[in-house]
Amino acid sequence: MARRYDAAQIEPRWVDRWEAEGLYRAVDDPDDRRPRFYALDMFPYPSGDLHMGHAEAFSGGDAVARFQAMRGHNVMHPIGWDAFGLNAENAAIKRGTPPAEWTYANIEQQAASFRRMGFSFDWSRRVQTCDPEYYRWTQWLFLRLFEQGLALRKSAPVNWCPKDQTVLANEQVIQGACERCGTPVERRELTQWFFKITDYAQRLLDDVDLLTDWPDRVVTMQRNWIGRSEGAEVTFTIDETGEEVTVFTTRPDTLWGATFFVFSVEHPAVRRLAELGGTWDAVEPLVRDAEHTSLADREAVDTKEGVSLGVHAVNPVNGERIPCFAAPYVLMGYGTGAIMAVPAHDQRDFEFARAHDLPIRVVIQPPDAPPVGGDELTEAMPGEGAMVNSGPFDGEPSPAAIAKVIDWLGAEGRGRAAVNFRLRDWLISRQRYWGAPIPIIHCPEHGEVAVPDEQLPVLLPDDVDFQPGGESPLARHPTWKHVPCPICGADATRDTDTMDTFVDSSWYFFRYCSPAYEDGPFRREDIDRWMPANQYTGGVEHAILHLLYCRFFTKALYDMGLIGFTEPFPRLMNQGQVIYGGASMSKTKGNIVEPMPIVERWGADTMRLIMLFAGPFEDDIDWKLIAGDPDRRPGVHQWLGRVIAAVEDAVAADGEEPEALVRLTHKTIKGVTDDLERYRFNTAISKLMVLTNEIRSTVDGGGGARGAAVALVQMLAPVAPFAAEELWREVLGEGSSVHVSAWPSYDPSLAMDETVTLVVQVNGKVRDKIDVVADISEADAEATARSSAGAQRALDGKTIDRVIVRPPKLVNIVAH
Ligand SMILES: [Zn+2]
Ligand SMILES: [Zn+2]
Repeated sequence: MARRYDAAQIEPRWVDRWEAEGLYRAVDDPDDRRPRFYALDMFPYPSGDLHMGHAEAFSGGDAVARFQAMRGHNVMHPIGWDAFGLNAENAAIKRGTPPAEWTYANIEQQAASFRRMGFSFDWSRRVQTCDPEYYRWTQWLFLRLFEQGLALRKSAPVNWCPKDQTVLANEQVIQGACERCGTPVERRELTQWFFKITDYAQRLLDDVDLLTDWPDRVVTMQRNWIGRSEGAEVTFTIDETGEEVTVFTTRPDTLWGATFFVFSVEHPAVRRLAELGGTWDAVEPLVRDAEHTSLADREAVDTKEGVSLGVHAVNPVNGERIPCFAAPYVLMGYGTGAIMAVPAHDQRDFEFARAHDLPIRVVIQPPDAPPVGGDELTEAMPGEGAMVNSGPFDGEPSPAAIAKVIDWLGAEGRGRAAVNFRLRDWLISRQRYWGAPIPIIHCPEHGEVAVPDEQLPVLLPDDVDFQPGGESPLARHPTWKHVPCPICGADATRDTDTMDTFVDSSWYFFRYCSPAYEDGPFRREDIDRWMPANQYTGGVEHAILHLLYCRFFTKALYDMGLIGFTEPFPRLMNQGQVIYGGASMSKTKGNIVEPMPIVERWGADTMRLIMLFAGPFEDDIDWKLIAGDPDRRPGVHQWLGRVIAAVEDAVAADGEEPEALVRLTHKTIKGVTDDLERYRFNTAISKLMVLTNEIRSTVDGGGGARGAAVALVQMLAPVAPFAAEELWREVLGEGSSVHVSAWPSYDPSLAMDETVTLVVQVNGKVRDKIDVVADISEADAEATARSSAGAQRALDGKTIDRVIVRPPKLVNIVAH
């Protein structure tokens, strides 16, 4: 008689035993001949206990790691924490507890939950980015980038949250407000540290082609973020001063249609030119306004806004003198911060021209349309056509003639071919405490001096005032920043900014390979053994920046000769989000469901199976739809109960194992193997359910099923590791863990669908015989019969009246 399935009684026991047996230790021994498999999960941020997103992502990543171990790989499946960051500091401000205390307490809670979930982590490789042993090497890597000229300080407009008193990255600004506190963001000019990721823009773009095992949408997001555009740089001359101003344009074929010229309001020439043109009084408020608008809001600015500078630019292609304006719709960050405006063929320019009563000149005549004057247009015409009013290029087709125009500009000395990227340099400094201090000392004599490697880490002081002010808490510390210059020994000061946490997370996967190494961030032979990672699993919310920064670090380390490859994650898997009732879970909506209470009630195996069985891994899971009633026993829990009973009964049964069950077992092994290789966890689980039912009915009919039961338990191991282990060792009586057993293999001839002969008749006469699968559908049988050569011959010139289909053996086509 089968026992009642009680996960709480089964699961915690195995956690301790697996750890005692060292089951998930990755082996560094070069004599280990197994192929290696690096199963990497995006490491969590320790803000409270695990949430549903963690439960889902790690269930998928863990299934992959376990499957690959059973397939004979030496698997490394590490875990760590992305532990610096603003949340810890905000919590410290709110509760008065130091960020370290809050952070480490959360890490311990998450670690306990991970253990309870039974994830197959190699705990000996645990990495925490806020540990001095880790950020020592974050600082070391900063210094290598500094030596290469890839870390530099420059003044730049930044998003500033007046409440958090810190600089925000663009992606931390949501609709003009701070992502964390909702305060409207302002713009400020500050001297900041940057990583020169733009030096790698072309390579980051080119190598996207190597990422064939990434989801298409992520590849597209990477491409769009880098945003390469080809065009020309063309130099205009300010008539009143003779100074030259270069613009970048992707449409040099429209140069003859430029009727005005626009500067970004932040352009350094704006004030001088407006004063010269006598319009500064009108321009100044625009400049002030822009200072209080976030960079993000500037993207959605009113295109009608702008003020004349009272000066003129001379168009180099035709010598025309056109009026200059300052307008917020032109961004300083894109191109050169100044544009030639072609209102007939650019919608923003068109709207500006209409609002300011500026001339509009058509220079591209669309095909199959009567010629139209600029005054008659109701919107810009950005499409193709024939160049008109364009001097030597009249009649040339656009955009085909763009290359010709660029050649001509070059030959005439009026411009040149150019490439522009949307990607900006990576702003990495933060005026906050809870991050890795930037290891630079400012000397009045020697400027920016690197902290010598042997003095790393530059430790965070414990005794600081966390209350936010204009300066970093480190800047307000009475003694911390005062140090002698490493070169001359004179009084100097430490840089008081800390690094963006995206820096910490750009190299943690290297540290996993050598977690205890003390002579560098990693040992080369470890990197050569484990990297690039075989599998990276995590949320699509990191599809742009985190992945881009990891790719940049990898390329920079490659260029320094520290590693031997240029892409860290050739294969990427993104899980969907766990939502509730169609909306994301959030505190404000009060719809958060926590995973751990469900684990306590129904078990970790059930939690995993709910996640993996809900649908394709990359799709969102709506918790309300799949487990809306918390008091109902989950379907997968009921299934696990049936699995346990079926396996126990199969062990007790002593009849012959029928061929149909043997065939289904081999077919299931083939199908599940294929599914798990492609992360199709849900279809793998449904195949296991079918096999479970077949074992049940076989045993009930007096047949044997031990072979099928053994295979079922093994295939269950990646998705329900506790139940599988219990059955393997306690019911099947195996000595060692199911998780180190060899993945079951199948006999292809048994795994194949059985075939039968389909007889094709026309008007009752046999015209063809075709081998088809035994479970062919009615529609497939009919289609197969109709298209068979024998039927085609017999039907030539006839009209089909009806088709009698008796799958899988007979199709009779009645025709006249
Ligand atoms: Zn804020
Ligand atoms: Zn000095």
